[in-house]
Amino acid sequence: TPAEYIRNFCIIAHIDHGKSTLADRMLQLTGIVDAREMRDQYLDRMDIERERGITIKSQAVRMPWTMEGQAYALNMIDTPGHVDFSYEVNRSLAACEGAILLVDATQGIEAQTLANLYMALENDLTIIPVLNKIDLPSAQPEKYAQEVASLLGVEPEECIAVSGKTGAGVPELLDRIVSEISSPEGDLDAPSRAMIFDSVYDIYRGVVTYVRVKDGRLNPRERVAMMSTGSSHELLEIGVIAPEPKPTAGLAAGEVGYLITGVKDVRQSRVGDTVTSASRPAPAPLEGYADPKPMVFSGIYPIDGSDYPALREALDKLRLNDAALQYEPENSVALGFGFRCGFLGLLHLDIIRERIEREFDISIIATAPSVVYRVITDGGEEVTVTNPSEFPDGKVAHISEPMAKATLLTPSEYVGTLMELCQQRRGNLQGMDYLSEERVELHYDLPLAEIVTDFFDQLKSRTKGYASLDYDLEGEQEADLVKVDLLLNHEPVDAFSAIVHREKAYSYGLEMTKKLRNLIPRQQFEIPVQAAIGTRVIARETIRAVRKDVLAKCYGGDVSRKRKLLEKQKEGKKRMKTIGRVDVPQEAFVAALTSE
Ligand code: GDP
Ligand code: MG
Repeated sequence: TPAEYIRNFCIIAHIDHGKSTLADRMLQLTGIVDAREMRDQYLDRMDIERERGITIKSQAVRMPWTMEGQAYALNMIDTPGHVDFSYEVNRSLAACEGAILLVDATQGIEAQTLANLYMALENDLTIIPVLNKIDLPSAQPEKYAQEVASLLGVEPEECIAVSGKTGAGVPELLDRIVSEISSPEGDLDAPSRAMIFDSVYDIYRGVVTYVRVKDGRLNPRERVAMMSTGSSHELLEIGVIAPEPKPTAGLAAGEVGYLITGVKDVRQSRVGDTVTSASRPAPAPLEGYADPKPMVFSGIYPIDGSDYPALREALDKLRLNDAALQYEPENSVALGFGFRCGFLGLLHLDIIRERIEREFDISIIATAPSVVYRVITDGGEEVTVTNPSEFPDGKVAHISEPMAKATLLTPSEYVGTLMELCQQRRGNLQGMDYLSEERVELHYDLPLAEIVTDFFDQLKSRTKGYASLDYDLEGEQEADLVKVDLLLNHEPVDAFSAIVHREKAYSYGLEMTKKLRNLIPRQQFEIPVQAAIGTRVIARETIRAVRKDVLAKCYGGDVSRKRKLLEKQKEGKKRMKTIGRVDVPQEAFVAALTSE
């Protein structure tokens, strides 16, 4: 298709606002999926089903659409919905000329949508505002059209009202995509340059890479080079998704599609990188490439120590599909052998945790997430700390912590409670905008460390779930931070050391000593549980001594019952960790880490 008849667009929407359902209607109306094959959330299901030995993602679906007798190709590009993946979102947006801003007409816009909208505007995309679910009696399209219009600086009449469910308004929307979004520009005769906006590992085919060709043309069987690494590969297959993968005779400037080179690991085909021809390479890559950088670190340990090799294998497999996941072996007195892992953010951590448990069936425990600190010692040495155990023991001159620019969107009645929460979390108010009388946008500078410790749960519980949060990482600030250690019978329990703000050290110490006192069974001697900064104890609890006699309950009766109990106690002993001469069942540590 000549570039002038191509339109590349994405849909920006909050989860549940109806993106998948709208996509279904588009597939149906454009005729690429007929009524017989149609099922709900067609593209989502393809992700899971892995048909025909290729992991199809809904990343870039090509749909034909005819307007005023002219045939067009509409490429719908999928974007991930969450803050942790904002770089991937940014690259998906950079592959488009326009975006549909899809808003549930019963809910209004949410913070995440807003953040992606701003990113789309920064990428100079044409925005088509759409209110969805107008078939619902509770829909208030006029009200939210006002809100969206004032946000975009357009007239409310420019918002189009649709129902992804009934299909109402969807043909008009497809026409507006053609008439309002500009066709892609690019130099057909220049050396080829294609931007990678996603890459997925497939067990049969290796990595499937999704690209937007910006200049020139990529042809099957030619050798291509990845410009960030210089590595070159043969193009084994190139094509479009419509909605199954269809090999084509190449992709030219303006087009969107997939390519396969046989590489085995997504780190060899990185989002943001530029693909060029190896025989006639472009002089410079496209702008905007960045290496994924983990921002949140956590120790991951198998609950059953014998699962350690399986855990390693699981991480190795997950990394094939996730260029941002980092890990290295780590050893903890309390938790045994495990891995120190780096993630883009909390959601990324949750996804990996869940996949290890579900797909690989390994029970694991994760230590409290930590961010990356830059510590300058009195000796002038700089240390990067991603783990409390790396915190320098001696005198510390400066500590810098990463900062986030946070946007909170809330019904106005919760502004007070949210400001209080942000205040407690060392936030700095940067501004406040009323989207309407009822909805307010708050801007805060917040330390990332404060966001990663249950901020999101607090936000939701304080606002009955109505507020939403988004953040961008930006810069760092100097902060008065200390490392708090937890001591059991005067020995540190490594998994519980934490880097916290000096003003919160005391309450952290108090909370953790209480928790451990309640979870650790009494022993034959008295055990102090202490929290300390260096050698200074800031909190103390005591586990009182008990004469633990498992036979006491049996009143000298049944012998076989006694034996059973003794066996059982021995069994229990095996899974004990000994710290400071204290026997602690691993469950106690696990419980203390999970009951956050
Ligand atoms: P996504 O998370 O943005 O992909 O949203 P989905 O397409 O999965 O839709 C979320 C929920 O809203 C589902 O239960 C859909 O059936 C429902 N839904 C989506 N669009 C409409 C619509 O236009 N009208 C009605 N009544 N429900 C809709
Ligand atoms: Mg969906």
